[in-house]
Amino acid sequence: MNFNFRYRFQETIPPEEPAYWFIFRNGKILTLTEGTATKPLLIRTRELPQLNIEKALHIGELDRIDCYALFDETEKGIEIPHSEWVSLRLGYGKFSEEMFQIYGRAAELLVWASQNRFCGRCGAPLALKADERCFQCPACRFISYPRISPAIIVAIEKEGKLLLARGARFQSEIYSVLAGFVEPGETLEECIRREVREEVGIEIKNIRYFKSQPWPFPDSLMIAFTAEYAGGELTIDPTEIVDAGWYSPEDFPPIPGKFAIARALIDHFLEKRNAPARP
Ligand SMILES: [Zn+2]
Repeated sequence: MNFNFRYRFQETIPPEEPAYWFIFRNGKILTLTEGTATKPLLIRTRELPQLNIEKALHIGELDRIDCYALFDETEKGIEIPHSEWVSLRLGYGKFSEEMFQIYGRAAELLVWASQNRFCGRCGAPLALKADERCFQCPACRFISYPRISPAIIVAIEKEGKLLLARGARFQSEIYSVLAGFVEPGETLEECIRREVREEVGIEIKNIRYFKSQPWPFPDSLMIAFTAEYAGGELTIDPTEIVDAGWYSPEDFPPIPGKFAIARALIDHFLEKRNAPARP
């Protein structure tokens, strides 16, 4: 299924015409269900009587139909026939990567709007600006743009092995490549070298851009790289990492599921080694 999504916004209250509604509640999105091909909800505004429509955000156009995002703040959660709540973080397999990106945009903008109700400079209530995707303070003119937090993620190779680590904050036994947030005033390359040094104590070389992925938990942009080991002994920082090691494809520990860019980096390594693809 291919969608034609246009990044656009408008300030208006949703009209009566059918629109795509991206309704979120506790990290889940309400989606129409047709087997595994989950689609966005195409409904009329009046079919959402319990929701606070004035808080809806216009997030773009999908196949020339307006898209709105909104939190479901009702006590029990709304029910719409033939729909189900799907976790945005764990929903892979339920919707395409393309749809994940559009849902992610909706989620990021909703969280941003909910956290920017008042001016950070003078405390007055903020209002959406008519000609730009941002809030502006009517009192002091301060502008608040949507927040995007860049983070690097890097796959490091040494003699045909990949560095995989289990993060202290991981909720499962999964091992992944290293990642970290970019500091103010830091280039991406400096960030990669610093994170790798801090987390596992080694030096790297041949840093190459791989690809990027918006990661809406809540507002990251993951920028992925490959690199090669250049020196030093693996020394883990126990506040960040529980375990780390160099792994050949045949000895791999459990790895992240499809969708995450970490998995794309790991799959890229496996392909280069001509190793069988993982489920
Ligand atoms: Zn202000």
